[in-house]
This record gives sequence, C-alpha cells and structure tokens, in this order.
Amino acid sequence: MKCPFCRSEEGKVLDSRPDPEGKSIRRRRECSSCGRKWRTLERVEDEMPLVIKKNATYQPFDREKLLGSMSVACGKRPVTFAQLEKIIADIEWDLLSSSVGAVESTVLGEKIMSALKQVDEIAYIRYASVYRRFKDAEELISEMRGLIDEETREPGLSS
Ligand SMILES: [Zn+2]
Repeated sequence: MKCPFCRSEEGKVLDSRPDPEGKSIRRRRECSSCGRKWRTLERVEDEMPLVIKKNATYQPFDREKLLGSMSVACGKRPVTFAQLEKIIADIEWDLLSSSVGAVESTVLGEKIMSALKQVDEIAYIRYASVYRRFKDAEELISEMRGLIDEETREPGLSS
C-alpha cells in the first residue's frame, strides 16, 4: 500500500485488529521512507485468501456461500445463525493470522466440519455427508460410529 503522504511503497503494518463480526480489519501502518503513520479500515473480504477448488480453479472466499451451506446442514437443528457467524469469523481470523495467499477448499471444509461437530453432531453429519460425498452408507455409518465412540469413551480412561 502506498504511503498517502510521500507515495512510497515501502511500509509496514504495525498492528491489525479485526472487528468482532469479522467484516473489517483496522490496521496501523508506518511508512519506511517518511516515517509517518496512518490508519486503514479494510474490508476482510479483500484480505481473505483465495479458495482453491478441487478442479484447481481459484475462487474468492465467499462468506455468504459458506454460511448458506452451513445453514442448510443446520435446518431444524437448535443452532443459531449467530453460532454459524461465529464459526466463520473464527475461520476468517485463522486464515488472516496465518496470512496465506490461498487455501484449499478441502482444508476450509475440514475447518467447518470440526467446528460444526462441536456445535451440533447432526448438523455435522449432514454437512459431512454432502461435503465428503461418502461413497456409500457403510462409510457414513462408520463416521457416525466414530462419533458415538467419542461420546461413550469414559473421561479419564484415555489419559
Ligand atoms: Zn511516506
């Protein structure tokens, strides 16, 4: 980003703070040439890494689309929209802090699945059944067995 005072392109970010909803990010920048400081307010969408699809094409990070697919999985489940927004905001913050240029859609999917699993297991199974495209009922059942095993495991026994 060019310095607004001297137009130099050499500068650094002093700090970055996303807003609680994850929609924008405030930055403090300092110009290395003239030493002046200024603040920016940037939209998170512009900062988000691109998403690499399975067919090797790049797409912009689409928060609405991700929220949509999660809402479908959560239909009639006791999950609030605020919980879903929180999941997305956490993922966005994760990606922003790791400052990667691109993220694979499978990695994104795994992040969503592990977050959904904490919130609602039925929603998780629904999401995973679409996302992972289980080959057959057997695969789906074994995933569900895994969940049940996790639940019935006596706390303390494994440690
Ligand atoms: Zn400057």
